[in-house]
Amino acid sequence: MRVPKVDQSLCQGCGNCEAICPEVFEVREDGLSYVIATDLAGLEACVEAAVENCPEDAITFEEEE
Ligand code: SF4
Repeated sequence: MRVPKVDQSLCQGCGNCEAICPEVFEVREDGLSYVIATDLAGLEACVEAAVENCPEDAITFEEEE
């Protein structure tokens, strides 16, 4: 199963990921993006779009056990 992750050492809080895929990403008051979804059914395409539109390349979407 692929799992989205945000490298918060890279995130600049621009909000692109949340704008593109609000079901999965939330930018909180600390100015960092968090993954809020546990069930990604039907959300893969929007996660991929968020990965592509993160200006800091902070989001990964890789296979995990
Ligand atoms: S798009 Fe990237 S830099 Fe912008 S808030 Fe999301 S994770 Fe952070």
